Amino acid sequence: MTIINEKFTINTKGNTDVVDITQQVKHHVYSHSLQNAAVHVYVAGSTVSVTNIEFEPGLLVDLPEALEKVAPVDKEYHHDAMWHDGNGYAHIRASIVGNSTYVPLIDGALQLGQWQQIVLVDFDNKPRNRTVYIQIIY
Ligand code: ZN
Repeated sequence: MTIINEKFTINTKGNTDVVDITQQVKHHVYSHSLQNAAVHVYVAGSTVSVTNIEFEPGLLVDLPEALEKVAPVDKEYHHDAMWHDGNGYAHIRASIVGNSTYVPLIDGALQLGQWQQIVLVDFDNKPRNRTVYIQIIY
């Protein structure tokens, strides 16, 4: 078994900024000309997530609206009472959505659906610089 580690950084606007990272992931994976592998995409941080979505304008409003119902920005959080950083909502959203996604590479192609993109969602309450890690296992 071989593991290839790749990473890249992106700047986000924070505040549930949804960024399409599909092309960066494809670029890093396809540069190795592999046929079959397990591809894991992970972001480091407790107020940021990696997930999948159809990257279209409607869902870019719908997803933040849905998460606002689950973890509203202006609710009082114990985290904020403890740390006074005002991003309790961001930690909760990141925990629920998760930090990684897996995509199988089969016959040289990442098996994404036609309308399925890989996105990073930054929930923090300020712009951030995030590091995305890709582990390619074959
Ligand atoms: Zn915090």
